[in-house]
Amino acid sequence: QEMALFSLNDLLDQIASFIYPRLLEANVELERELEENLFVSGYIEEIRQVLINIIFNAIDVLTEQMTSSVIKIKGFITEDRSIVLETSNTGPKIPEPLLNTIFDPFVTTKKTGTGLGLYVCKEIIEKHEGQLYCTSDDEWTTFTIKLPPVKKKD
Ligand code: ADP
Ligand code: MG
Repeated sequence: QEMALFSLNDLLDQIASFIYPRLLEANVELERELEENLFVSGYIEEIRQVLINIIFNAIDVLTEQMTSSVIKIKGFITEDRSIVLETSNTGPKIPEPLLNTIFDPFVTTKKTGTGLGLYVCKEIIEKHEGQLYCTSDDEWTTFTIKLPPVKKKD
């Protein structure tokens, strides 16, 4: 697998169709609000894995909920040209002690969970010199991926 420049917009299109059956089954709506031309330099299969992990975790939470089920993905470029992708789902606030450990290996609240998903996600994003973190309040839980600006070749 090679490091390459790829379109995050296209990747999210592919992921949206790939997970469509699961979204239908779970009665979850996926809302995308992306700036155009979000390009990332990196390993596309690894970034795909990160996004699918985060979205599947969100579907897991939403499946247990009676209220409206929506996953929002917001993507934009910051002033310093970093790429930011925020994936949010409704649901109960993640309590503080758990929030501090969800990226640690083997931390899971699921009967058959491995607790490795977010650990691997963080490893991948950090390998891309980016950051991955989670915020959670009474309404929304959000996973933010921040990736560095694409370096121009000289
Ligand atoms: P697993 O999915 O196997 O449990 P992960 O590393 O993917 O392992 O997630 C670890 C834990 O983080 C989950 O068990 C869950 O408690 C919490 N978590 C992950 N994503 C969310 C989310 N979107 N909302 C609330 N809690 C979450
Ligand atoms: Mg998981």
